[in-house]
Amino acid sequence: MTVATETEYEVVIGLETHIQLQTASKMFCGCSADYANAAPNSHVCPVCLGMPGVLPVINSKAIEYIIKLGLALHCEIPEYSKFDRKNYFYPDLVKGYQISQFDLPICINGWLEIEVEGRRKRIGITRIHQEEDTGKLTHTNLNGEEVTLVDYNRSGVPLMECVSEPDISTPAEARAYLTKLRQMVRWLGIGTGNMDEGALRCDANVSIMPKGSKVFGTKIEIKNMNSISAVHEALGFEIKRQEEELQAGAVLKQQTRGWDEEKRVTVFQRLKEGSSDYRYFPEPDLPPLQLQADYLAQIRTSLPELPEARRDRFIQEYDLSLYEAELLTGSRATADWFEESLGEEKTPQRARATANWILNELFAHLKEKGAELDEAKIQPRQLASLIDLVQKGTITPKSAKEVFEEMFATGREAAEIVKEKGLPQLSDEAALATVVDKVIAESPKAVADFRAGKEASLNFLIGGVMKATRGTANKDVVTRLLREKLS
Ligand code: ADP
Ligand code: MG
Ligand code: ZN
Repeated sequence: MTVATETEYEVVIGLETHIQLQTASKMFCGCSADYANAAPNSHVCPVCLGMPGVLPVINSKAIEYIIKLGLALHCEIPEYSKFDRKNYFYPDLVKGYQISQFDLPICINGWLEIEVEGRRKRIGITRIHQEEDTGKLTHTNLNGEEVTLVDYNRSGVPLMECVSEPDISTPAEARAYLTKLRQMVRWLGIGTGNMDEGALRCDANVSIMPKGSKVFGTKIEIKNMNSISAVHEALGFEIKRQEEELQAGAVLKQQTRGWDEEKRVTVFQRLKEGSSDYRYFPEPDLPPLQLQADYLAQIRTSLPELPEARRDRFIQEYDLSLYEAELLTGSRATADWFEESLGEEKTPQRARATANWILNELFAHLKEKGAELDEAKIQPRQLASLIDLVQKGTITPKSAKEVFEEMFATGREAAEIVKEKGLPQLSDEAALATVVDKVIAESPKAVADFRAGKEASLNFLIGGVMKATRGTANKDVVTRLLREKLS
């Protein structure tokens, strides 16, 4: 009898991520880089159209932005770097070459910390280099003819490429890495990081090798995923496919595969070209970059408090859980919103209440509307005044939810809505006592039962008071009054 043995594999993943920079102008010319709503080929000039004899000029904002990301990802910024020409032909590349960086990128040797299932891990950043985007091709049918339309508005838009070390071991880690990277890009305000708009694009390299092996397997690159979850899914599919191939005795070839969004499979595109095919050489029209120490220091000083530091401070200063702090620092806008609504009241109790309102009510309402935080009508200080009303006992937590609904929908002040709805919580004892007396008088059986030792009857009486006050009575006060009057 033979027993089939299955080899156990180890997964190796490295991600190459292209990130558009949100600068006003393009990388090497003065054209507007904001092409989102522009008519095709309206943001072009001789430079980004690759006309002969024109000269590129480096966009200093783009350099500042890539350095910001590099510093945030713990990279070294060498004093010298340079631009190179990457030569290849494709209709979206008007010059016949892309200005990129080859051997001397602006940022090297950094890392990004991820957390998966409570485990923290550093993923190495090999390099981040500066380059320019290509034009956009649209394959379509025009009057019954298959045609390809070209739009060069995107040609020359600043693009960074961030290359990770092959330190990622699972699709979940890849997802965490991309989520953190995108968070950082948005946090620094250097790009939108929107994958569905192509402002962040990820090529995922994945190989498998027998567990414990020191030699990496054949790397396969996957392209065309337009969301982080698609990257996660594509990797999962590809790992399984490679395992099946190897189990069947096949030899894998280095190749580029595409993610088919509809069929949810990776499909072969081409065998991978090596970097020698690009004939990189130094860009003769641009001087090497020399980055002075004081210039770097200035950029470092300009960095905002970064997500991890802010998360850890939230835990320290406000006694929040790691989970809460992670969510509240998911974006800079959320973290700002939270701290703005806290205002000067920084007690852990207040922080917890505020965090709860934001993470539960506010997020749920935004999600339901498909809206972003910056579109919310309710403002941080308005939430604070709602929390004040609850903490002072003016309204019940239950009424507060109702008031929140209205605040979220209209952006009106809590106090105004409370007044209009006649919601003040009855903690005024004299007013409540009248209601309590009335309920006692109307419920002789419950009263008798309670006096005979049946505790549950008290709940019935409390319920009667809550009903009579339409849920606005302060339950603690009601309970105390009932006990006093019935003892
Ligand atoms: P290429 O020149 O083909 O683009 P690179 O050496 O630049 O290859 O690596 C591209 C990406 O692939 C990097 O993120 C790197 O970490 C990753 N990578 C390299 N080797 C492997 C491998 N065997 N398996 C998975 N990923 C890998
Ligand atoms: Mg590469
Ligand atoms: Zn231009």
